[in-house]
Amino acid sequence: MCLQTENRPAGASLPVECAGGHDLPTDASLMGSTFTIPDLLRSFAGRSGIAALSSRLIHSPRTLRILIYHDVPASLFCHFESHLAWLSQRFEFARPDELIRETSPGNRPRILLTFDDGCSDNYATVAPLLESYGARGLFFVCPGFADLSRQESLRLMERSAAIMGATNRDSRWERLSRAQIIDLDRRGHGIGSHTMTHVPLARVTEDETIKEVEECAALLASWLEHPCHYFAWTYSWDEITPKSLKLALDCHKFCFSPCSGLNPWPHPPRLLWRTAVDVSKPLPYLQTQISGLPDQAYRSKRAWLKQMRRSVAAP
Ligand SMILES: [Zn+2]
Repeated sequence: MCLQTENRPAGASLPVECAGGHDLPTDASLMGSTFTIPDLLRSFAGRSGIAALSSRLIHSPRTLRILIYHDVPASLFCHFESHLAWLSQRFEFARPDELIRETSPGNRPRILLTFDDGCSDNYATVAPLLESYGARGLFFVCPGFADLSRQESLRLMERSAAIMGATNRDSRWERLSRAQIIDLDRRGHGIGSHTMTHVPLARVTEDETIKEVEECAALLASWLEHPCHYFAWTYSWDEITPKSLKLALDCHKFCFSPCSGLNPWPHPPRLLWRTAVDVSKPLPYLQTQISGLPDQAYRSKRAWLKQMRRSVAAP
């Protein structure tokens, strides 16, 4: 579902996105042959302390950094553990429901961890680890995949892959079941819509957009027995149109983009920036991702999206 272009950190090397994470280099020897020059620069920035210093300068109790993770396979879980240990020392974990109620700035910068695609490891291992830190995640799921067999799930994924012209095949067919989605919600995690069947909204018809956004929100609300407040579109920062953005804002309180930037806290806008994290890379890579450097690369993209946001005129 996450094709090799989805939500990829700017400049990241191709072979290491979630889709192939299971059989990719895991333990991140930084001198491994799959690391590119940008990867090495990120590693240098992280290991030298430059990234940590920059991160301290740009984050404050009045900022919210939102990270995008996907699946966290067992072979990469140690990376995720190191991410959480490091983040917990420098940030205060924001709970998803803090976005929809009045809250105060607190003493530390806020960070919210989001997980796209609703992979089953999010339930089995990710959520329990978050809870051990007193944290809660925001899981963006595609309910059309819940409770499908392997064959059905793979067939459904191939549709979006074909629309995107992708040649690689996403092997992550095990998705959160309806019962698991409901249980995560009951435990205080956030459940958001990632469209019904993970389609690229900029490439489907208006009727399909209604099914993928509006009907998906209604389905999740019926499962959760409360409105679904969060929406994240699929693939890259520009796979959205004014009409689909307006519909998403009409159906949800917050729209999460795959576009890196820093959000204000405690009064975040309805269109939020998120920074992609590659869990196949070790901690210095994460430190560089949230240093503010990738935010600069996304500056013109944020301007483009802000203009679209203004054009749809929702409050
Ligand atoms: Zn996705």
